[in-house]
Amino acid sequence: MSQAEPIKNDLLASALDIADMGIGIIPLWWPNGGICACPKGAECSSPAKHPMTTNGLKDGTTDPKVITRWWDRWPNANVGLITGGEIDVIDVDGAIPTYQQLVKDVGIPEHVAMVVTGRGDGGMHVYCSPGGNKTIPSGKHGLPDKIEMKGAGAYVVCPPSRHISGGTYTYIVPITGQIHGDVPLHKWLADMDAEPAPVVPLRPSMNEAMPLASTNVDAYRDAVIRAATDAVLLAGEGGRWTALATVAIPKICRGIAGGLIEQSIGIYALESAAGQAGLHRDEINRISSLVNIMLSQGINEPIYPPVDTNAATDSWLLSLPKDEAGALPEEYMEAAKTERTTWWPIELGPVLRGEVTEKPPEYLTLTDGKPLFYAGKVNGIIGESESGKTWIALHAVAQTLAANGTVLYMDFEDTAAGIVSRLKSLGVDKFDGLTYMSPDEGFGTMAKLDLSETLTTHQPDLVILDGFNAAMNVLGLDINSNNDATTFAQLLLKPVAATGVCLIYVDHVPKSKDARGKGGIGAQAKRAMTTGCTVGVQVLDPFGRGSVGRLALSVDKDRSGHVRGYCSDAKNLGTMVLNSDKTSGNIEVQFFAFDAGAIKNATSNSHRDAILEVLGTHPKGLNQGEIVVLLRAAGHTISSDLQAPTFQGLAFDQMIVRNNNLWQLNTGELGADDDD
Ligand SMILES: [Zn+2]
Repeated sequence: MSQAEPIKNDLLASALDIADMGIGIIPLWWPNGGICACPKGAECSSPAKHPMTTNGLKDGTTDPKVITRWWDRWPNANVGLITGGEIDVIDVDGAIPTYQQLVKDVGIPEHVAMVVTGRGDGGMHVYCSPGGNKTIPSGKHGLPDKIEMKGAGAYVVCPPSRHISGGTYTYIVPITGQIHGDVPLHKWLADMDAEPAPVVPLRPSMNEAMPLASTNVDAYRDAVIRAATDAVLLAGEGGRWTALATVAIPKICRGIAGGLIEQSIGIYALESAAGQAGLHRDEINRISSLVNIMLSQGINEPIYPPVDTNAATDSWLLSLPKDEAGALPEEYMEAAKTERTTWWPIELGPVLRGEVTEKPPEYLTLTDGKPLFYAGKVNGIIGESESGKTWIALHAVAQTLAANGTVLYMDFEDTAAGIVSRLKSLGVDKFDGLTYMSPDEGFGTMAKLDLSETLTTHQPDLVILDGFNAAMNVLGLDINSNNDATTFAQLLLKPVAATGVCLIYVDHVPKSKDARGKGGIGAQAKRAMTTGCTVGVQVLDPFGRGSVGRLALSVDKDRSGHVRGYCSDAKNLGTMVLNSDKTSGNIEVQFFAFDAGAIKNATSNSHRDAILEVLGTHPKGLNQGEIVVLLRAAGHTISSDLQAPTFQGLAFDQMIVRNNNLWQLNTGELGADDDD
């Protein structure tokens, strides 16, 4: 890809011009050699059209500093113009003859710009301005053929972006600053007998004056909608839901009952205000049912369209009967009760319909083919320092890279050289997919932008955060505070996982036995914020160059239960054996799953003496897989199936199984201290 025109960039100039008109801009991926420049390349389903930033439309801005920064970094990025509010677009998607027929029948819609899109077979965008602070919701609205409206909640690719087919988006009627007319696009839609398109008032700017007297009934409708939505927008953080439930919804319902407000418009306005006020998606989703409940309860004081449309809307508003706060129907108040927390039951409908499925874990596959860590979730590896946690994380990295996946390693503990050399010893020879960072400053605005850009451009499948406490220190958070641990998760862990990556943090627990486990400092908060699986690590044999290290892995937390399902006791996974070659330094990783049942159910004996002998030489204990390996090494023929009655007839009282699946000789004094 050529980094053309570093100084004069037409794409940047266009983006800045449009932003200057108060229209939001987002950077889009661009065509590169006939395919999308995004990591999916030829596989991309929306080539050169989809947003580059993590939050898509929500990242839209009119801030020239941010926009300049985007095009400094991505000089070839296409320009996305956010529709709704100032500009709505009639998207004539390769249906120009149909559009021409429409124009013949009902006339040209009043427009503020017109664009031929870059597609070879003819596409056109007609930019309209439905009147400041109004929009037509995106959709078909009965438009024929492939024509559709792009309004609220959408964007268009605008000039001089390049189309994937090689063409350039070009103005045939250039956009100017004169976009704030009251162009009755909805009338054009009505004229052509399309479905009546609702024109919806958007959130007015906070300090915008109420519309003055008008002969247009719509102005009174808009005044009621604004009064209702302002109540939500101006309410403080804790009061937004209350304002919505006790002021905004009742007021809109009064307007609906009086025939002033169309129900769909009222709901749309409430939902968009709630969204802008930052209410949760689940709360926004409750709005329409609350409106229905409210209407079904009967409205005492409907708001009717004004008889005298010469009155100023604000004095008309004041003349209306007051909202009857406190006199809202009981059933409605019950339904609206309170801003829900995560203690509120989750709507199971989509789950039951199979629309939401808990995906099984996909990362860090054990030797027996079972992965431990979940994509889109916060996962963890916890253990004492020097317990080999990082080796486990690096094993996951090595596997992901070997499968042509991408990895972001956020290192708060080691150095790039250290991580790369350890990965090499694990057999990694291809580092294309690896991105490494070593953050050493607070998580301010620029840091957030850098991380967001990294996630966007490298699109990691797996993110390792090594280690938890060091990262909290860097962010200026107190590792001894449960609150700060939660803050850390909200600030960094959850947003990163929300991009769909598998995030694994590596966390030390204190060496001291007393401070460990559930009582450990910050441990509760860390457990609570783990949305995927946390694996606990205990050292059985310490690992070093030229030696064999053994780590016992157990499930500390597993929210969706797939990983616990692997364990015969829902707890112990098995032993990871790291075998370092003295001369080459190469490390072989093997995993032996725990299966208590196979031994416990055994009834007769063919290898009993051998097993007891092997156990006698390994006082720290062995798991079943290891016993099999050692028996084979000693020349015994053992079934390849570990579930088979390999241990038939074991003298059970001569052996004891300890925590972490370890079988030991029963000398009668075990179990007192199984930690070191
Ligand atoms: Zn793409």
